[in-house]
Amino acid sequence: MTNIEQNNFKSPFYTCFSCRSIHTNLQDLLFVEENSAKGFCKEECIEDFYRPLLKHYEKLEETLRINFHLEDETVLLGISEEEAMARLIAAPDEIWRLTNDLSEEIYSYIKVINRAFYIVLCTSYKNEPSYIFLTTKTNEQKMLDAFRIGEKVSVEVSVSRDLEEVIERKKSEILARLLEVSVFDEFSEDIPMDQYILYHDLVGPTMEDADEIYEYKDKHGDLLVTYTKSFKRNEEAIFYLVICLKDDSLSLKNLSNEIDSMTSDDEQLQNSMTIFPIFSFPTRLGSVYKEFKQGKLLSGHLSN
Ligand SMILES: [Zn+2]
Repeated sequence: MTNIEQNNFKSPFYTCFSCRSIHTNLQDLLFVEENSAKGFCKEECIEDFYRPLLKHYEKLEETLRINFHLEDETVLLGISEEEAMARLIAAPDEIWRLTNDLSEEIYSYIKVINRAFYIVLCTSYKNEPSYIFLTTKTNEQKMLDAFRIGEKVSVEVSVSRDLEEVIERKKSEILARLLEVSVFDEFSEDIPMDQYILYHDLVGPTMEDADEIYEYKDKHGDLLVTYTKSFKRNEEAIFYLVICLKDDSLSLKNLSNEIDSMTSDDEQLQNSMTIFPIFSFPTRLGSVYKEFKQGKLLSGHLSN
């Protein structure tokens, strides 16, 4: 924040690109673009600044789909939007970059998920999608080609790739544990694994409005968060669980963490971490639900 007493004509300062507020400390600003002076004082200012672009891209996609007769294209990824985004960030298949004469860059990240193309149009910061203008999915090659903008950027082997490996490894560990506690034989009362896909729509509601959220460190020292929620499905009560990896490697969040260190508290730290869904599943069995709701209760009531 501005401190008039300490300020004089000789002190350098920085302005928020959106609200133009003045800051003597560069650490006060958030950045969402690589090699850019566009700094913002808060998330709200980022939203305000890019909103017109959001509309612009929305309109472009609409027109494109009309031209291609793809207005009503249904694309099934087979996974939730959150999981698709996590996978794309962790390991994109293609990255494209369009640069204008002012050296402003727009990126297109593409990932093939279950034979469909998942596309994210965004700014990039520290080699990762930062501000998202548009996400779309398509089965059509011509639609995909429209998003291969500017020049192709080599997909570097980065920390993100390691992250995908970590996610895959944890997924198999959770799966192994699930097989241990829930016997999937012909007498099993639990929901068969091949039906999990039918419950995928519950990922969002569970994460957004969990009954309980637990956090624990696994044997590798990684922080895992479990979101649980009970639902009624086809007249029967079930539990839905979403297990996520908590990671702090996302750039924008890292920056806001530095700023928040001035008002540092646990909640701020929580907000600075990125959540990657690893595995989600439904269960009818209280025993399975209990086995997985482990660790420290972050939110929700203590139930018996
Ligand atoms: Zn601002």
